Amino acid sequence: MTIDGYTRTCGLIGNPVEHTLSPFIHNTLAKLLSHNLVYVPFHVEEGQVLSAVQGAYALNLLGLNVTVPYKSQVMEGLIEIDELAEKIGAVNTLVRVESGFKGYNTDMPGLYRAMSSEGIQIEGQEVILLGAGGAARAVAFLCASKNAARVYLLNRSIEKAREVAGEVNEKTGKDVMYPMALSDYHCLPNQRFLAIQATSVGLYPDTEQAVIEDEAFYRKIHTGYDLIYKPSNTRFMQLVQKQGGKAYHGLKMLLYQGIIAYELWNELAVSEEMASEVYEVLKKKMGM
Ligand code: NAP
Repeated sequence: MTIDGYTRTCGLIGNPVEHTLSPFIHNTLAKLLSHNLVYVPFHVEEGQVLSAVQGAYALNLLGLNVTVPYKSQVMEGLIEIDELAEKIGAVNTLVRVESGFKGYNTDMPGLYRAMSSEGIQIEGQEVILLGAGGAARAVAFLCASKNAARVYLLNRSIEKAREVAGEVNEKTGKDVMYPMALSDYHCLPNQRFLAIQATSVGLYPDTEQAVIEDEAFYRKIHTGYDLIYKPSNTRFMQLVQKQGGKAYHGLKMLLYQGIIAYELWNELAVSEEMASEVYEVLKKKMGM
């Protein structure tokens, strides 16, 4: 594309941002849709996120994505926050509106679209959620809002598990989340589960690790979904597969959270055919 006086800019703020795949998602979409739009990463130093948001508005940016560690901090600098993002307590997408940015969370609907595209159902499922960090919060809200039968939320620090589970139950008006200490995994009932891995254990470069190693745990899992996509076959996925379960990595979640952001910025719907084309670009970048 030719950058000219009409080119619109979107970008990513975070720290670090250097290894992000998001430019490949958005710049590919802009190319496929013949949009005069560029997407660039912006490394924002600690304490500067609110100035960055103000500056982005002053520079007429169309929208921003927000990544670690600013998904909660950024909320203070917005003029409006979408109801879902407010509930989750994390914003990963800023959309330019009159006199400021409105915040959204596309991680949760992104994961939902990714799981749906793989034929993974949440409704009525017995779920194990590993982790209680930022990503796990979005997953917990997704499971509750899509009517999972029960969600066992296992975390290394039980206090955080209790906090997230309590908040999700309260805000969704359901009694679906059951907090547990990670070390108590052997107390899980003898059932088969959909397990969603939302800890950072196993993430590159520590690829030889899984949050639980015990094979007995993995015998209870019919489907394992790891939010991690680097590596593309995590140790958690390998352990699920070894016991006969199906396993998925998080690259499609990344794809769809980006696509939903692009849809919000440009007020359009990206077709599944186009989503597949972008996914091929991402897989190539990941060497898959
Ligand atoms: P986070 O807020 O830092 O949370 C990290 C979680 O991992 C916490 O629950 C933490 O437990 C747990 N943890 C860390 N080290 C552990 C260890 N040694 N043993 C047991 N538990 C451990 O991170 P996040 O933002 O939620 O991200 C979590 C993962 O999701 C990352 O790997 C990230 O790459 C991935 N992610 C993927 C996508 C996607 O689009 N595919 C989007 C977002 C995130 P404690 O509370 O006990 O510390």
